[in-house]
Amino acid sequence: MGGGQTLFAQGILHSGAKYGLGAAPPPPAYRRALALWEEALSGQGLVPLDDVPVARGARWMWPVDQAGRARLQQLAQLDPLLSRAERPYPPALRRAEGLYRLAEPSLDVGALIRTLAHRAVPRLVHLDPLDAAWQLGEGGRCRLTWRAPALRVDARRLILCGGAGNAALSERLTGGPRTQRRPLHMVMLRASSLPALSLHVVDAGDGPVLTLTTHLDGDGERVWYLGGGLAERGVARSPAAQIAEARRLLGALFPDLDLGGARWETLRVDRAERWQADGRRPAGPDLVAHPQALVGWPTKLTLTPLLGKQVVEALAAEGLRPSAPLADEALRGLPQPPPGAPPWRRAG
Ligand SMILES: Cc1cc2nc3c(=O)[nH]c(=O)nc-3n(C[C@H](O)[C@H](O)[C@H](O)COP(=O)(O)OP(=O)(O)OC[C@H]3O[C@@H](n4cnc5c(N)ncnc54)[C@H](O)[C@@H]3O)c2cc1C
Repeated sequence: MGGGQTLFAQGILHSGAKYGLGAAPPPPAYRRALALWEEALSGQGLVPLDDVPVARGARWMWPVDQAGRARLQQLAQLDPLLSRAERPYPPALRRAEGLYRLAEPSLDVGALIRTLAHRAVPRLVHLDPLDAAWQLGEGGRCRLTWRAPALRVDARRLILCGGAGNAALSERLTGGPRTQRRPLHMVMLRASSLPALSLHVVDAGDGPVLTLTTHLDGDGERVWYLGGGLAERGVARSPAAQIAEARRLLGALFPDLDLGGARWETLRVDRAERWQADGRRPAGPDLVAHPQALVGWPTKLTLTPLLGKQVVEALAAEGLRPSAPLADEALRGLPQPPPGAPPWRRAG
C-alpha cells in the first residue's frame, strides 16, 4: 500500500505558498485541504488520523538571490502562514540572509499508510482489477470476476484511484480519462553529521530550486531527502551526474558541512495526475465522473482529503451510500495488502 507515489512523498502538507512564488496568492484549494487535515489529525472527521505523527517545526524559506528575497517579501504580504524569521538562525543556516518561516506541517508518510491500512480501512483486499473480467452495465454498475481467488464483486459504482495505474484501468472504460506522468529524480543522503532541517530554497524561478526534508532511517540515522527543482531538472541526468549536482548545490548552501562520509543514492519516481493539455501540474485534485466509473487523482498528497470529499459528494448525488462493511467471513482467505515502507527506512 502506498507504493506508487505516497511513500516517496516528502510528507509536506503544502500551504500552497511554494506555488505562490510567482507572487500570486496561494491557490485556495491548499488552505481548504489543510483545514481538513487538521480535523483528521485531531481525531475527527471522516477518517480520523490522530495516531499519525506530525512535525510542526519551522520550514525555512531560504532566498538565495535578490529576486528570491523580493518574491518572499511580496508573498509574505499575501500569506499569513509566511513570516520573516528573526535571528539567531539555527547554526546550519547561519550563512543565510533574509530567511522566512513557513507554517507547514509534515506527516510521517509510513505511519499514515500503516494507519490507513490498520484502522481507517480495516477491510481491504489486495486484488488487481486488471486480472478480473469486467462487465460494465447501465448507470455505472459493474461486475468484476476473478478466477483465482474465486471472487465476484457487484458494485453500483467503481472508483479508480490507482495513481499511475489509472492509465491502464481507464483503458477498460469506453473513452476513459487519460493520466499524465511527470518524472522526478530525487536524491537521498545518509550521514550522522546531518542537522534536522526542512526547507525550500528560493531564487528567481517559479518553484523552489531545492526542497529538503529530514527523515530517520531504520537505525535512527538522519537522511536528507532532496526534491524540488533539483529533482525536476535532474530527470535527464544519470544518477552519478545527479549526485554531483546535489553535492554542488549543498556545498554552496552549507560550505561548513562535512559530507565526506555521506552515503548517496537517487530515486526515479513519477508523479501521476489527470492529463493536462499543457502537461503542467493540475490546479487541484481531479475526479472524473465517467459514466462507467469515478476516476480520481489527488494531484498532491495534501489534496487527498478534497478528493475524498468529492468522491463522497459524487456518490451522494447519485443517491449512493456505502453498504454495511462485508462480514469477515466473506473476506477470509483473501490476500491483504501489506503496508509499504518509505525509501529512507530501507537499507541504504
Ligand atoms: C517524489 C515525490 C514527492 C512528493 N512529495 C509530496 C509532498 O511532500 N506533499 C504532497 O502533498 N505531495 C507530494 N507528492 C505527490 C503525492 O505523493 C501524490 O500526489 C499522492 O501520493 C498520490 O496518491 P495516489 O493514491 O493517487 O497514488 P499512489 O500513491 O501512486 O497510489 C496508487 C496505488 O494504486 C495501486 N495500483 C495501481 N494500479 C493498480 C491496479 N491495477 N490494481 C491494484 N492496485 C493498483 C498502486 O500499487 C498504489 O498503491 C510527491 C510525489 C512524489 C513522486
